[in-house]
Amino acid sequence: MDAALERLFLIHYHEVGLKGKNRSRFENQLVRNIEHALKGVSRGAVRRITGRLLLELAPDTPSDIVRERLAGVFGIANFSEAVRVPSTIEAIREAAWAVVRKARFASFKIATKRADKSFPLNSNEINRDVGACVETRSQAQVKMERPDLTCFIELSPQGTFIYTRKIPGPGGLPVGVNERAVSLLSSGIDSPVASYRIMKRGVRLAFVHFHSQPYTDRNSQRNTEELVRLLTRHQFRSTLYLVPFVEIQRRIMTDTPPGYRVVLYRRAMFRIAEAVALREGAQALVTGENVGQVASQTLSNLRAIETVTALPVLRPLSGDNKEEIIAEARRIGTYEISTEPYEDCCTVFVPKHPETRADPETAQDIESHLDLGALIEQTLNATEVKRFRL
Ligand code: ATP
Ligand code: MG
Repeated sequence: MDAALERLFLIHYHEVGLKGKNRSRFENQLVRNIEHALKGVSRGAVRRITGRLLLELAPDTPSDIVRERLAGVFGIANFSEAVRVPSTIEAIREAAWAVVRKARFASFKIATKRADKSFPLNSNEINRDVGACVETRSQAQVKMERPDLTCFIELSPQGTFIYTRKIPGPGGLPVGVNERAVSLLSSGIDSPVASYRIMKRGVRLAFVHFHSQPYTDRNSQRNTEELVRLLTRHQFRSTLYLVPFVEIQRRIMTDTPPGYRVVLYRRAMFRIAEAVALREGAQALVTGENVGQVASQTLSNLRAIETVTALPVLRPLSGDNKEEIIAEARRIGTYEISTEPYEDCCTVFVPKHPETRADPETAQDIESHLDLGALIEQTLNATEVKRFRL
């Protein structure tokens, strides 16, 4: 492309529901998150202009890396690599040609949006002027319905932007605009997807993983760290609590009837996660639980588990089919890690016939003989905290 043209990325977000103070909070957080996501990449400034953001590039900024990083930033609806020119019809005409000539196309259209009403030509007149120029030089035909190529021209008080491709972003809200939550992250398929969905609502997550070393190998921990590393791309820094769960499992296994063990393990997990939430200033727990998927996920059991915490428990996958969850795990890149071989912390300790209609009172009754409070305290003290940065 013409070296004299100023290259930049034009970043669009959905404006629905963004009003007043919320809007500037959203925009400021999105700018900060884009800056985080581009750490280590040479670039110019990120600026707010009406209804969108501008990311200015340096002459040596690699576009492919910028595209890859922007694609992971929640809050971005779509983005385009564009050139900026002064708003004169001559400059627009030449720049549009410089942009489209790199592509091969038999049909095209020009789509102009004019936020700057001071410009002498209206959108249609610009479409016709630039269209005629491109038609003559390219020999391609103007086609309004499904052309091979669309050349977008946006006139704004900050200049005119020209581009041909809108790349979809992940949508959602920028991480940090909402409060925090604690996610119970196994190394299975579901909980990473659940975490992704809640992060996408602007919530920063801290992660808690329960492991059964030395009864299980280190793989589940390693896979979990790998997952946290991957999810950290979206929130830029994460804390992972690695909880040694074996003493609690052992106590439950030796002193309780088999049917209730799974519910009791999970009640202990929720209590520990709640303690972590308190420490993290988090307002909710997140799990990958799914109604009816396994015996511990009957409605009765979900209820018997959840009564131990006063925090809301978010279960974003509760109504999804397994195939939908797997497809999403593939899309967000967690599937490969989740399906690496590992021994789940519970497989060693899980009874063959778990109770499917547990009730909270019975669970509490059984627990009253276990003195779990002290054990949970010890477990929290032995918990390892790992921090991750992009
Ligand atoms: P996943 O695929 O997320 O492991 P699952 O279908 O295997 O879920 P369960 O094993 O019953 O279902 O776990 C339900 C939820 O409890 C998980 O999604 C996760 O949020 C939490 N959980 C289970 N095991 C652990 C663990 N070892 N560490 C942290 N959280 C866990
Ligand atoms: Mg699991």
